[in-house]
Amino acid sequence: MTDMPPFAWSVEALHADHRQALRIETMIYDSETAHQRLQVFENPRFGRIMTLDGVVQVTEGDEFIYHEMMAHVPIFAHGAARRVLIIGGGDGGMAREALRHTEVEKVTMVEIDAGVVEFSKKYLANISAGAFEDPRLELVIADGAAFVAETTDVFDVIIVDSTDPIGPGEVLFTDTFYGRAKRCLSEGGILVTQNGVPFMQGEELTHTMRAFRTLFRDATCYLATIPTYAGGPMAMGWGSDGTSRAASIEELDERFRAAGFETRYYSPEVHHAAFALPGYVRKLLS
Ligand code: SAM
Repeated sequence: MTDMPPFAWSVEALHADHRQALRIETMIYDSETAHQRLQVFENPRFGRIMTLDGVVQVTEGDEFIYHEMMAHVPIFAHGAARRVLIIGGGDGGMAREALRHTEVEKVTMVEIDAGVVEFSKKYLANISAGAFEDPRLELVIADGAAFVAETTDVFDVIIVDSTDPIGPGEVLFTDTFYGRAKRCLSEGGILVTQNGVPFMQGEELTHTMRAFRTLFRDATCYLATIPTYAGGPMAMGWGSDGTSRAASIEELDERFRAAGFETRYYSPEVHHAAFALPGYVRKLLS
């Protein structure tokens, strides 16, 4: 047996009792921004991986699952979304997917960290894929919580593409933030949130769902499995006073065909099935 060369590993310590290690083939960038430690390295399976404070944010290999499910589920369910707000989303992948909908007139993206945006344009250009140059994108560098407290704009879909509830992302998981975000929704508008992996971060989902139940007539979550978010499917919170969730597979199919673009994970069937929750997740909601 030949000796294996020693590899460097990026070890994610998001949970006290669990570690995820990803092999660093090449460290591409490692620096402190004004808000967090930003690293990008190359991994043989996932391509380029961006971590913030050691926690995986996005990988070239599996980002399509997260971005397609966070953007297309609310936009296709809504059926006539013109104005989309993204909170966070610094890598540009969420804006890319939202902008694929030609009927979307404007995407406002509020990212706290200009460093993440600048960096992503340079080192993760495959992910934003031109989204930052799209004239329909308005980029605001600000705290998303402060933005929803102050803006008078309204949005048909709000997507919270945040970090986990530590550091600058913590404020985006508060009842106050959810209440203010709701105030920015147009009639029948939809709020979706990144809510972690329920098997590992159950309280996070329970907390968000408790807040959503007091705020929205329709409060639930849906699921998607993203390989680098370890521990099972990830939950995306869904809150709306409208009835968009009732859109049938046939209606979604009609909208999807009319949109005329291809996806790698999203489909009207997957959209529908994503709201079927296993018992352990349903329990966290109640
Ligand atoms: N998909 C990732 C995940 O779940 O691991 C998260 C994506 S990453 C693009 C999240 C972005 O949210 C980061 O760029 C971070 O700077 C930004 N962010 C964190 N707190 C924020 C806040 N309070 N307001 C606006 N953006 C924030």
